[in-house]
Amino acid sequence: MPRILQFFLFATTLVSLSVSPIVAQESVPFPRDPAYIHDPNQRLFDQLTQTDIPFEFRPAFPDRLEIWVSDKEFQDLAEQGLNIEWVPEEDQVYWETPKGVAEEFVTPATSYPTFEQLTAFLQKKASDYPDLCRLESIGQSVQGRDLWFLRISDNPDLEEDEPEFKYISTIHGDEIVGVAMMLNLIDLLLEGYGVDQRLTDLVNDTEIWIMPLMNTDGFARNPRRRTNANGFDLNRSFPDRVGDPVNTPEGRQPEVQAMMNFGFNHSSVFSANFHGGALLMNYPYDSDFSIPEGPPTIPPQPGWFSPDNDVFEAVSLIYSMNNPPMFASPFFENGITNGISWYSVWGGMQDWNYVWLACNEVTIEMSNDKGPAGSTLPQFWEENRESMLSYMEQVHIGVRGLVTDSRSGRPLAATVIVEGRDHEVFTDPDVGDYHRMLLPGTYTLTYSADGYRPKTVENVIVEEGEATRVDVELGLDVSLLTVR
Ligand SMILES: [Zn+2]
Repeated sequence: MPRILQFFLFATTLVSLSVSPIVAQESVPFPRDPAYIHDPNQRLFDQLTQTDIPFEFRPAFPDRLEIWVSDKEFQDLAEQGLNIEWVPEEDQVYWETPKGVAEEFVTPATSYPTFEQLTAFLQKKASDYPDLCRLESIGQSVQGRDLWFLRISDNPDLEEDEPEFKYISTIHGDEIVGVAMMLNLIDLLLEGYGVDQRLTDLVNDTEIWIMPLMNTDGFARNPRRRTNANGFDLNRSFPDRVGDPVNTPEGRQPEVQAMMNFGFNHSSVFSANFHGGALLMNYPYDSDFSIPEGPPTIPPQPGWFSPDNDVFEAVSLIYSMNNPPMFASPFFENGITNGISWYSVWGGMQDWNYVWLACNEVTIEMSNDKGPAGSTLPQFWEENRESMLSYMEQVHIGVRGLVTDSRSGRPLAATVIVEGRDHEVFTDPDVGDYHRMLLPGTYTLTYSADGYRPKTVENVIVEEGEATRVDVELGLDVSLLTVR
């Protein structure tokens, strides 16, 4: 039911926008505005689960729920007796300078870029560092803004035997610190290449993708908005193992479609998406069959934790340990939490990555204040720079190798399963490389591909640091050949 409604709204909005995809701010649709519901109860969460009304629960404000509603939805909720009010102006995230006043944007950031400055920044990096990066627009927002992804690699046009890593910021357009941090990081990597050994190694050994801004329209609006221009929460609009287990882009918001198609066309191993409004690491799962959306009312259940919970805890700790305010979280031990244990959401990008792409994605809440002053950005950079680098380096832990045809040496589209872990990962069929993130230990791995005899490799020892290499050749399954 919600999906149908969502598609209907999406389709009608597209029709009305089709004449002129970039519209003036006055005619920006954004049909939903933020509101607070004070003292939310469990019945409210049960009901919200049946709708696509965006909502958010923040640990610093346990007695209220923030939701994004149309005038009609506001009235309906008020008539149900809920204590609801529009979010006051002072609580919204505004641009620091009046719109249209373009001050120079430089890194390390001491201000936020406009969308136009962000675009110019990325285009300049792509032209200044042609040997290290490529700028790609993976689609357009509702209002026609490009969704930029910058690829950084020592061979930016080649598919190599390297793990693919991605950072994505600001799927919620009013959670903006990550935008500046991504641009700082891009500069650090490009300027440090060939100068700093650690940064050079990272770029040489990893295919890095950075999207500084996913909700371009929500970010460009003033005040900024969590939702996209159609009023949808993009981080509730992905396929979900509980709420919406159909892994197809059709009928979804354009920004989600673009990200899904990117995911299908790449073999990402590890990623993170950056938010604001809290300070913590949130790892899978975000949804489970045992509870509706909202804060949990029962103790943690085994189904809330993924088969790779040990890996998620370890990589989350690496980020938080290097970020003192996050590590000192008053709400979550060491600043890390399982998603459902905080509050359950359906349709998040994180779980979609893990469940369908076999990409280990974590949600990083990097600032209690969603839109702190630009003057605080150097401090955020100080607290996140080492975390961001250390986290990226974790893409190299575990077991890696090539899966090829035993006769031709051709790379195979293969599945890799670790005994005792109900979670498949896949090779990149272009090169045949796989990267199975695992903590130190001894493992048994099974490799299979359509039409080939599976192969099991026992006693694979993983140590601290660089992944153990296990290359595997698979032979055709002769029982499947038709001989006459
Ligand atoms: Zn968010």
